[in-house]
Amino acid sequence: MDFSGYKNGTKAIWAGEDIPFSNSPATTPVVNSVTFSYTDLDEWYAVATGNAKGYIYSRNTNPTVRVLEEKVRQLEGGEDATSFATGMAAISNTLFTFLTPGKRVVSLKDTYGGTSKIFLDFLPGYNVDVKLCDTTDHEQLESEIAKGCDLLYLETPTNPTLKVVDIKRLADAAKKAGAIVVVDNTFATPINQNPLLLGADLVLHSATKFLCGHSDAMGGVLAGRKELVRKVFQFREINGASLQAEPAYMIARGMKTLELRIERQNTSALTIARYLKAHPKVTEVFYPGLETHAGYDIAKRQMRGFGGILSFSVGGGYESVKKMLPRLKLVHLAASLGSVNTLAGPPRTTSHVELTEEQRALLGIPEGLIRYSAGIENTDDLLSDLEQALKTI
Ligand SMILES: *Cc1c(COP(=O)(O)O)cnc(C)c1O
Repeated sequence: MDFSGYKNGTKAIWAGEDIPFSNSPATTPVVNSVTFSYTDLDEWYAVATGNAKGYIYSRNTNPTVRVLEEKVRQLEGGEDATSFATGMAAISNTLFTFLTPGKRVVSLKDTYGGTSKIFLDFLPGYNVDVKLCDTTDHEQLESEIAKGCDLLYLETPTNPTLKVVDIKRLADAAKKAGAIVVVDNTFATPINQNPLLLGADLVLHSATKFLCGHSDAMGGVLAGRKELVRKVFQFREINGASLQAEPAYMIARGMKTLELRIERQNTSALTIARYLKAHPKVTEVFYPGLETHAGYDIAKRQMRGFGGILSFSVGGGYESVKKMLPRLKLVHLAASLGSVNTLAGPPRTTSHVELTEEQRALLGIPEGLIRYSAGIENTDDLLSDLEQALKTI
């Protein structure tokens, strides 16, 4: 059933749940079967040739996995969706499907670390021309797009300094150049931002983060224009980076509380960002919901909430971070983000560990920066926790 007339919280619960399973169970069964059997050879042939609905082999499609794909499709407003073993599989499969030798991709310097590695270390080896622009320099992005562009790849807000790019403005420029527009919507989630409605052709997620929400399953999902999703699906079913039924179930289950979690995380992150901004020991706060943030106006226009992630620096640099971070009680000091538990860590150790100090400085990432992904704990408890930890420096 199509839930496009309903709000996001309702879609997150009901979308995909009408995919048929025998005995009409009230929750999605985990269909661990690798293969699906037929008694009628004509029906088998019809399904195998794509002329009837059904499942053949789980590297291609699987009913449990389909439920998750359908949830993301409807939340993002896409015509179709497909899924992957991880977020990086969603990104690499999408890029390698469209960026064949001789093509040109325009993107940002601040994309997720793994994505950046594809742009810098892998695509050039396949004779793809990669142009990475200063993330918030919209004029440079527009002029590079106009020079010739087959694919525009965006991410907003970015990791870890929460830079914001104008999806609609750049999608308009890309359309004039005939480019496919892909947006990594992991940080915002479909609750806060829908790139397809702003002109993107494809939107993708590391479902490992907010969609799953509990740090217990990995996956990736791609949604958007049917013929484009289909092309990436055909690449993925052959190269084999398919999502399994077990993690698909975990992610789809997590998604039922997506709106509730994101509402709490939006509120907590904004409250914490304002608190830190006024704190004498905090030197800098990056959060798109602060009026002082360079991307605030664009974020206000294209996002419904500002998300659960912020970053901040403390006086005394990395030495202070080493003292303060371990004092936090309601935080896992760990990589990743978007979980029910608060997660925090210095980008110099987590997402940007492979860069040198100079490269981090060029991206505007101070050595003493802390990325903080608010969980769904009580907001006041998170504030008191930060208060007591900041007292130690
Ligand atoms: C984590 C992350 C990815 C990669 O996802 P995995 O599931 O870890 O492969 C991609 N983009 C963003 C913005 C992320 O935060």
